[in-house]
Amino acid sequence: MASSLNQRMVFPVMVVVGMFCLLVTPSIAELPRFKHPPKKQQSLNILVLGDWGRKGTYNQSLVANQMGIVGEKLDIDFVISTGDNFYEDGLKGVDDPAFYQSFIHMYTAPSLQKTWYTVLGNHDYRGDVEAQLSPILKQKDSRWLCMRSFILDGEIVEFFFVDTTPFVEEYFTDPGEHTYDWEGVLPRLAYVSKLLKDVDSALAQSKAKWKMVVGHHTINSAGHHGSTEDLKQLLVPILEANNVDAYINGHDHCLQHIIDNNNGIHFITSGGGSKAWSGDVKPWKLEELKLYYDGQGFMSMQITKSTAYIIFYDAFGKVLHTWSISKDRNVAAWI
Ligand SMILES: [Zn+2]
Repeated sequence: MASSLNQRMVFPVMVVVGMFCLLVTPSIAELPRFKHPPKKQQSLNILVLGDWGRKGTYNQSLVANQMGIVGEKLDIDFVISTGDNFYEDGLKGVDDPAFYQSFIHMYTAPSLQKTWYTVLGNHDYRGDVEAQLSPILKQKDSRWLCMRSFILDGEIVEFFFVDTTPFVEEYFTDPGEHTYDWEGVLPRLAYVSKLLKDVDSALAQSKAKWKMVVGHHTINSAGHHGSTEDLKQLLVPILEANNVDAYINGHDHCLQHIIDNNNGIHFITSGGGSKAWSGDVKPWKLEELKLYYDGQGFMSMQITKSTAYIIFYDAFGKVLHTWSISKDRNVAAWI
């Protein structure tokens, strides 16, 4: 059932993409756009965290503490959250105390008092989605910026945040005991087709040196959930056609770095914000899998015009993995 529906979806999407390519004047991308230039002109420094909101439990507090230390050292510009921000079932409303317990009172270090650019995960969709997207949360804490899909222009790099939960057909056809808040998403096929068109259009028009896409769900992953086939079929062709450098996600509660042999795209999982699934890892091609860490932690990125430096840290701040991607030589190498 999943594959037949996906095949039906691919066709209109490809037609839409094909029509776009024929247009002489490119249409204006419809995704909301934010600008956040780096404080230091030569480098944009950020932290990336996913799958975190558990009121401090499962080492969330330890990770938060280390983020504060690394954030200060790197003098970060902002934080990216890859979703599943509030467990188990998102926020109950704009006054849910979980927003204080899991966010405001958790990431208190001075270095983390920067904008948190945030997407929704599947657990967030089990709560009141409109509450999590509400500007009222920004009044409670000015760092909070959560939208379904948007573009963040960091001058050196452009990030394209994509709402991936509606791509996953299983949540609609076989939700089990869970209830999802699909208001604003239905009908699903129309929502996903339009989103793909908007992302493709925005990527095609981007003049940024680095293009990185952020979503909650995995595309390539050796973790518990594994790869997300719906995204592989629908989003990967768009990433390839537009020379995207990296796809950054959460969902699998681990830290992971895969370089896809087929397209050279870096698939980076930062989903270690709290509960982890120790030992839950599937076999993966060793030449592609650069890191798999089954505990808690987070990631930093330092991006210059020529190089992106990626570092993964565990819950105690220990460096687990360091990688650099060079734009000039278009090769990746150990530092
Ligand atoms: Zn998830």
